Amino acid sequence: MRAIVINKIDAGQSVDFGDFPETDLMEGDVVVRVSHSTINYKDGLAVTGKAPVVRRFPMIPGIDFAGVVESSEHPDFRAGDAVLLNGWGTGETHLGAWAERSRVKGDWLVPLPKGLGAAEAMSIGTAGYTAMLCLMALERHGLKPSDGPALVTGAAGGVGSVAIALLAGAGWRVIASTGRPEESDYLKGLGASEIIERASLSAPGRPLGKERWAAGVDSVGSTTLANMLAMTRYGGAVAACGLAGGMDLPASVAPFILRNIALLGVDSVMAPKTVRLEAWRRLAAELDLTKLAVMTTTIRLEDAIEPARSIVDGKIRGRIVIEIG
Ligand code: NDP
Repeated sequence: MRAIVINKIDAGQSVDFGDFPETDLMEGDVVVRVSHSTINYKDGLAVTGKAPVVRRFPMIPGIDFAGVVESSEHPDFRAGDAVLLNGWGTGETHLGAWAERSRVKGDWLVPLPKGLGAAEAMSIGTAGYTAMLCLMALERHGLKPSDGPALVTGAAGGVGSVAIALLAGAGWRVIASTGRPEESDYLKGLGASEIIERASLSAPGRPLGKERWAAGVDSVGSTTLANMLAMTRYGGAVAACGLAGGMDLPASVAPFILRNIALLGVDSVMAPKTVRLEAWRRLAAELDLTKLAVMTTTIRLEDAIEPARSIVDGKIRGRIVIEIG
């Protein structure tokens, strides 16, 4: 089958498009004919080797796919079922999605939600599904649009773009933080009411600042997240899912103990199936597909390596779908 494969070599690692023996697929009770995948930040880390996300070699990168079941020994799936997968170690410990076939555990699969095609599901991808997990976390905390605006950082990226569309669709006034002011019209088209400069949040700030937003979705981390927390309104919360700006968190406890705010951690990789089903049901029901189309670029599998390198440099706008089948 055709695949992108990462191999370990003396100088580090090689990444090539070519043939991969299907007999070398890993254990699993369902074989899926992959029709679409996407490029997520973690795929960029895998392809560049900038962080040790790949745990075995050779590795096929790709942490998410949509496709059709080819054969199944799992009671929930039959040949012909349309399915999708996010995370569970695919593209890290288990051979991933950037290939014509994948063999995985049926327990990892989610039926393609009604109302979404395979390409749309991968346009949402892990980035968009994580944006929904962030919205769900804020709602679980009891926050609602009447509490005040929501800040989205890394706004022109994948998580950020979908988060803006989802929050705006749910009635929030969205403030978008970006290092690419030239993307202001794009971000406003997705539903942002106000654009702020990434630099206004990235320098070390005070433990408490002016209260500016009630909620936040952060894919950047580091000083940006610390400043977000310092400027969150009394009783508000920030859902943190990413580290595009750094893994550290140079913050103080002041916002927690003086403003009663909460920092909500969001992980998509090991999220339980019930949470995934709810997130995908809501994505199919609530995400404006016209906005999804605006944020999406489609490429072929053989062209995926360069954009995967670019995503870790913050150069990709919105979402990239990889057409495979
Ligand atoms: P993208 O690269 O598409 O978006 C990240 C955005 O962050 C960029 O577009 C840019 O937005 C901004 N950015 C990039 N570099 C910096 C920097 N040095 N300082 C400040 N801002 C920066 O990635 P994704 O949206 O796919 O993923 C975002 C993050 O979320 C990643 O860290 C990823 O690993 C994480 N993630 C976590 C998941 C989880 O399960 N917790 C699941 C999915 C993603 P702009 O130009 O607008 O400023």
